[in-house]
Formats: sequence, C-alpha cells, structure tokens
Amino acid sequence: MRRRTPLVVALVLALGGAGGAVLGALGAPAAGFLPATDPGARDAAFATLLDRRAKAVRDHDLDGYLADVDRARPHLVAAETRTFQNLARLPLTAFTYALGKARYELKGHPELADRYHGRVALPAVEIHYRISDVDQADAAAPYVPILAWTGGRWAVAGEATDTDVDAPVPPGAQPWQGDPIAVRATPRAVLVHSPEDTGRADAWAGRIESALDAVLRFRPGGWSGRVFVVAVRDRKMLEGYLGAEAGRVGAVAVAQFDRVPEWHPGEKAGYAGTVVVINPDGLDDPGLSATLVHEFTHAAMGPVTTAATPTWLMEGTAVYVEFGDDVLGATYAKKHLAGRDLSRLPPDDTFYNAVENYDLSLLACKLLVTRYGERGLVGVYEWFAQHDGPPDQGFREVLGISLADFTALWRRQVQDTVAAG
Ligand SMILES: [Zn+2]
Repeated sequence: MRRRTPLVVALVLALGGAGGAVLGALGAPAAGFLPATDPGARDAAFATLLDRRAKAVRDHDLDGYLADVDRARPHLVAAETRTFQNLARLPLTAFTYALGKARYELKGHPELADRYHGRVALPAVEIHYRISDVDQADAAAPYVPILAWTGGRWAVAGEATDTDVDAPVPPGAQPWQGDPIAVRATPRAVLVHSPEDTGRADAWAGRIESALDAVLRFRPGGWSGRVFVVAVRDRKMLEGYLGAEAGRVGAVAVAQFDRVPEWHPGEKAGYAGTVVVINPDGLDDPGLSATLVHEFTHAAMGPVTTAATPTWLMEGTAVYVEFGDDVLGATYAKKHLAGRDLSRLPPDDTFYNAVENYDLSLLACKLLVTRYGERGLVGVYEWFAQHDGPPDQGFREVLGISLADFTALWRRQVQDTVAAG
C-alpha cells in the first residue's frame, strides 16, 4: 500500500470568525486579561508562540519548549516533555512551524473547555522538517495544537489527534507524538523504533540495508536511495493514515510533500520523501524483509508517482521487485484468480478492495518486463509523472502498443495461468 486513505471529510474552515465568535460570547473579563479578539492579532500571537517553540526544538532547549505550556497541568508538561525528547532524538536538519488558515472545533474534552472557559483555539499548523541525509526537501506534516488563553496569554494546552478534530489529515500521527522513541541510523536509513526493541534494532537495520540493495538494483537512480522507517509498537501512526485498514496491511509507504496537500487544494505539491511505517504486528514476521522491499520500491518510485499513476502499475511494480522472478503458481492462480473480471486492468477506485488485484497487477508488470524489459516497465511508469493524458497514449508513446492490445495479452496470460492450475 502506498497512498493515504482518501479521506472525504469536509474541511471546516472557520477562518478567524468562529474563534472570535466564541470569545465574543464570553462577556467581558477584567481589562488587561482579555485575549485578542481581533483575528489578525490573535494569529500574530500564535505565530510568535510557534516560532519560539520551533527555535527551542532546533536549539535542543527543553525549558524554551516548555515556556509556552500551561505548567499548571503536570500530565501535559510530561507529555510535552516526551514530545520534545522524541524530537531531540531525530536527526533533524530543519524544523519550523507554519500557521495555516484552517481553524478547528475541539470535539469532546469538555474538561478543557471548562478549564479554559471556552477560550481554546485549534489552528492548522504545518511542521516543516527534514530528516538529515534522507529527505530530498523539507517535508510538511499536519499538526493541530490546542492553544488556550490562560494567565493573560495564549499557552499550549494539548495536541489534537485525529479523533479530536474533523481535519482532512490526521494531525496526531507523527512518530515523535506519543510514546518514547529510540532512533537508529544505518548507512542509508533512519529507523525509529520503541526503546524496548533496542536489542532487535541491529537485525532490522540489516534487513533494511539488504532491502535497499534489492531496490537499488531495480532503480539505481532517480531517488535518494535512502529511507525513513518507523517501526514502533504504538499503532497510532499506522491507524492515523489507514484507519480501519490498518489491521490488513504489513506496512504503508506515505509520500511526504513540501506542503500538506489537503490544506492546499488546487496547488501542486512538491515531493519531499517517503515515510515507511511498519505494522507493529508484522515486526517479528519472517516476511518483513519482503515487505521492506515492497515499500522501499514505492519510496524509490515516489519522485515519479503522481495522481495519474495507475494503481495497478504502482502496486504491480512493487510486487514485481518484491518477488523478482518467483512465478505465481498455477494452483494459486486457479484458486484465487479464476472468475475475476479481466475486461480491464484493476481500476484505481476498487483496487484495495481485493488482495487478488496485487496478483493481477504483478502478472501485468511481469508481462511488461518480458516484452519490453525493466526499462519498458520503468519507462511507462515515468510517462505518467509527466502526463495527465490517457493511459492508452502512454502505452503507445513508450511501448508502441495500445492499452487495449496490452490488456488482451495480459488477459490471455492470466487465463492460461489459471487453466494450467
Ligand atoms: Zn504497495
């Protein structure tokens, strides 16, 4: 799997107005303790607070990071200290916050509304960061701090997770948010794991390097050749990206962009890197090495993967690199592929509904390699990075065959494989 689950959630844009209305309904507290009700002044206060905290992260300054936290709540201070310590363990060469336009309503948590008399604000914030020697550009991660007016100033009162707000992206699913992490750098990867797994990290690092070797044989250029891998026991990050699907996948490769695309509709986001998140249930699985090859292939093709890339081509390529020349057994094919709709290659919108679509896509990609070599497979893949045109045009331009004729060849091969079983 690679893409974020398409979250069709309407973005609740309360551009300053909603927050102001809440504050306006509170009556008139004593002069001098009024929060700024002017949206511009309030946003300026938020931006200043965020700049201070980002600098504290860059400077490894815990006191500076906690200076804007509501110190009257020990659990909050402990959680923010943990976040700071996690960030400090990561090899970051950039870290800034950018205040976005969206403002969210806090769902639930009446205790916070009570404590701060309703004076809470949840702005959309992009974290711009770069993992040293891994990311090609600064990556943007969604973050929604809970800010509260207390003691005559705005203070950090928490961090929203995806269940706290109706945001189009999960704001609380970064590896530094939550349980303590440990970080292991390998020659070509940065691995985040749980501290209790430090004894296993060497073995995982070896598997990561071997998987990178396999992917680099297929794709020696066109990407950094380096990966950021999250292999923590906490399921929050995986569930944040996949929701209910999290139990079904061994891992997910999440493309990172220079902005949070869901917060910039209509803009072209630039590719920054890929985070590979391993399902905690699969960490001790003997199939982990193959899973790493699959997900790293997505990372390797990340710079040339766009919304126009057919899902069958994206997944089929990853399965092809994962399994190499292993033949899909005829017995397996008869059991799983007989009776499948072969009128067209697996369509994007229903691709992830059936695991057999991976097999059908593998057969299509193997057919491409048999006829046109790996250069043909990569060539047609790269075509979609440059064109929004119909797939048929890409097949004709790159391979000299129509999509319909290629589909007929693929259909015949699937039917022959099933018939042999
Ligand atoms: Zn995949």
